[in-house]
Amino acid sequence: MPFSIKLALGACCLFAATAGSLPAQDWKAGAAAAVIMPQEPTWLSGYSSRTAPAEGKVHELHAKALAIEDAAGTRLVIVTLDLGSVSQEITDAVFGEVSKRHHVKREGLILNCSHTHCAPEVAAERRVFHALPDGEEAKLARYIEWLKGRIVEAVDGAFRELSPARLTLSKSSANFGHNRRLPTPTGYVNSQNDEGVTDHDVPVLRVTDAAGKLRAVLFGYACHNTTLAFQLYCGDYAGFAQQHLEEAHPESKALFFMGCGGDQNPYPRHGPRGLEYCRQHGKALAGAVEEALAGQQREVRGPLRLAYEVATLELEPLPAMEKLQSDAQNAKDHRQRKALYLLDRLAKEGKIELAQRCPLHAARFGDDLLLLAISGETVVDYSLRCKKEFARRADGGKEGEGKDDGKKGAPAPAPFVWVSGYNDDVFAYLPSQRVLREGGYEGRDGIIHQLTPTPFAETVEERVMGGISRLVEKVSK
Ligand SMILES: [Zn+2]
Repeated sequence: MPFSIKLALGACCLFAATAGSLPAQDWKAGAAAAVIMPQEPTWLSGYSSRTAPAEGKVHELHAKALAIEDAAGTRLVIVTLDLGSVSQEITDAVFGEVSKRHHVKREGLILNCSHTHCAPEVAAERRVFHALPDGEEAKLARYIEWLKGRIVEAVDGAFRELSPARLTLSKSSANFGHNRRLPTPTGYVNSQNDEGVTDHDVPVLRVTDAAGKLRAVLFGYACHNTTLAFQLYCGDYAGFAQQHLEEAHPESKALFFMGCGGDQNPYPRHGPRGLEYCRQHGKALAGAVEEALAGQQREVRGPLRLAYEVATLELEPLPAMEKLQSDAQNAKDHRQRKALYLLDRLAKEGKIELAQRCPLHAARFGDDLLLLAISGETVVDYSLRCKKEFARRADGGKEGEGKDDGKKGAPAPAPFVWVSGYNDDVFAYLPSQRVLREGGYEGRDGIIHQLTPTPFAETVEERVMGGISRLVEKVSK
């Protein structure tokens, strides 16, 4: 029997044996949720056209935490939030507590938001730019302080639930997410573009206990949570999907892990039937998750290897001083507010550093899963590129090639690559080089609403991918 066939059979038997009699004690996991509904009606996130606080709710908003520990005690906590944004300030505050209470390192805590536009406004830039009435500002500030404690409570709950677990992976798809960058003779506009790139994957991590009972399901999708544009609290399609799954599996937690949906919208959306569309999309996503849960599973083994870095993204130069001064005096709305903000910073700091921090995470689960978490409103190009680039054989070679030691062996399966956006600090849209060059809202124009001083420089994708590549190398050793 040729060596390669013998090895391949050996590998198959090993996989079958491992999958059949899985040592659940290799992993410990726990999941918990905390309700994060404000105690008083607040301003809602997302749309700058809002003129009043929330008028009620469709359903509760939650912070949920999934804690995972490998046999060596390495800990990863994924926090998912039914919120429009998450800031470095919130992430740092939560990390401060969680690191003390649960021995979680910086690389072991990921805060992800669903980007629902029907949640209390927590984005740092909105408080600077919205010019809300003082009372509303104060309510949001109180809410954010309270929220930090609630997120920590969700993490505490997840660690209280920590017990032997089995992790498996599967994948499905849903097609209500569409590219929203439509090219027109006058540039890219925000409208459904069926020719544009999308990522319809629904990756699913199933967490069961030693007896095989479902305890948590983490699922992703790359699409804005913007089916709705009204004055009620709601988790949008992700909220409905989580609700459906928890109703179907009452003893488990369903956590929506937002993907790279920066340039993707759900369609149909908005209008008098917005809530109906939203329920439809939520049902479609929950259905896709159920399909994945019922389908073939890939066993996820350890060890857990984690890495984190903050990439520095370069920005374009500031507008000329005369332009800033004229905008500060004569421009309207956002342009005026942005000019005033930049002039104020120049007056206080003397000079504005043209750089944006971009937190990045990589978590590798043995040879089975490579999880990447990117900050900002990450556009879909990053997910497509990372999945292509890092789906290599688990032993570091290229798919289909022999081993690096020269022996022709069976190709080790490539790790499943899961890419998430909207983590830790949603500072601005994070364009790829293509989107930056094309321009439009996600490329350049959206920066007017952000604290990031100016649009990104041409090096943006190179800087992000450089950071991710370093992390992947670190966790793959
Ligand atoms: Zn957005």
